[in-house]
Amino acid sequence: GAMKLAVASDGGAPFVVRRLRQMLEGRLGPEWAEWMDAAKRFRQAVRALALSRSETEARYERFFAATVEPERLRARVPTADEIATWLAPGGDETGGGERAPLGQVVALPVEPRAGQGSGPRPGLVSLVGAGPGDPGLLTVRARQRLLSADAIVYDRLAAPALPPDLCDEVELHCVGKEAGRHPVPQQEINALLVRLAASGRRTVRLKGGDPFVYGRGSEEAETLRRAGIPYEIVPGVTAAIGAAACAGIPVTHRGEAVRVTLVTAHESAKGNGPQVRWDLLAQDPHATVVGYMGVSSLPEVAAKLQAAGMPASTPAALVSQGTTAAQRVVVSTIARLHATGVAAGIRPPAIFVIGPTVRRAAALDWFVSRPLSGERLGVFARPDGLAQALDVAGAEVVETPRPLGPAARVAIGAAPLTGWILRGVEEVEALEEERGMPSLEPGVRAICVGRAAAERARALGWARVQELVEDAGPEAIVASIVHGEGRSAATAAREA
Ligand code: SAH
Repeated sequence: GAMKLAVASDGGAPFVVRRLRQMLEGRLGPEWAEWMDAAKRFRQAVRALALSRSETEARYERFFAATVEPERLRARVPTADEIATWLAPGGDETGGGERAPLGQVVALPVEPRAGQGSGPRPGLVSLVGAGPGDPGLLTVRARQRLLSADAIVYDRLAAPALPPDLCDEVELHCVGKEAGRHPVPQQEINALLVRLAASGRRTVRLKGGDPFVYGRGSEEAETLRRAGIPYEIVPGVTAAIGAAACAGIPVTHRGEAVRVTLVTAHESAKGNGPQVRWDLLAQDPHATVVGYMGVSSLPEVAAKLQAAGMPASTPAALVSQGTTAAQRVVVSTIARLHATGVAAGIRPPAIFVIGPTVRRAAALDWFVSRPLSGERLGVFARPDGLAQALDVAGAEVVETPRPLGPAARVAIGAAPLTGWILRGVEEVEALEEERGMPSLEPGVRAICVGRAAAERARALGWARVQELVEDAGPEAIVASIVHGEGRSAATAAREA
């Protein structure tokens, strides 16, 4: 909008300027543009009153104090009633009128239909695709919306992509299946979104993959539309695209596969939903079929395809936990894929891919060829480039603030870690407070930079401590993890 902020260092430290800008861009949401417009209109209205300088200033102060929350860098657009009160004679007296601090505004009772009546302005709901699991596949916009959200409603599949550096105040609602807990029914999720938004909270609905691909995002969007709540869709990398790419399977290839079909095998098994025409899919040799939610229905799918004429030798693959450090790929033929997958212990979430390009997986094995593939490493954020070096080397990196906040705990807990890099005694001690977490125990390597850190970790009872030289920089740290003890497990898994 009309707001411009400048950050500069007189040319002395452009690297911090860049980071400060990114930080501010992440924290200042789109409502600041509307707020600036409202401020411009308010100024015009005040000037039209031709008041004394002190009366004018007092009104400006009123506007600012009521609409900006300085500690959280949040702003809201005032209501027409508020503006009328501030402009009215006596509107410069502090303490009068209906002034309410921001916290109270958020707590006002919820109107049945948001956007009407005297309730707060409903917050924008962003239906955001989190991508297939690798946190690096979150889009720029998704990250921006997450950083400026008041509330986040997330699925279990989306948890690994939750940015660990979200502010501690953000409300986190898990609505996915968790061990021992049933998933929240869709109607309750819909109601929760409406309730959060109607109370003025900026809300993100974070879903695995893409919100409109087997994600029920469209049902949620329709609910919001009916409730008069503003919403937007932030597309994400869907599992078919992400997992296939990381398994080395091009879903199209010139002259080999010119069509891609996304299909849910589940739907056909139920028998009451729209039926999948497996007979038609079986007829097209120059195509790729990617099946979601299909591990258990694979025998039935394979039988139908072969009965309709698909050759038993058609290449087929299963990819579970695609794009993540725990990714597993099984390549076989349509006739044998299920048995091979069961023997390999493949578990959901997994997609199956059927088509000629599956043959290319053996050669396009870029994902598992990276030196740190299979590693899921924790690291406390520091501006030294280590997280990026680990990422480039193929590790899945969970870069967290110190101390850890609630979002960091969700992200860490989303999958087991293989190690945590500890640069100094303070970091060993900071992590010690989290030792009970299941993803950290047992067997996570404490990869300690320097003798003192390693000694502290041993004294605190870490079972596996890897000691690196005191002044090891990012490259040296990566190299020593590649060759260090404890790598054997990840390497073995990869080779299997
Ligand atoms: N909206 C999601 C799909 C949700 S349905 C998307 O666009 O990807 C859930 C199914 O997605 C799972 O049963 C599985 O078939 C697939 N899936 C999700 N994440 C996956 C991953 N990382 N690897 C393999 N399959 C995945």
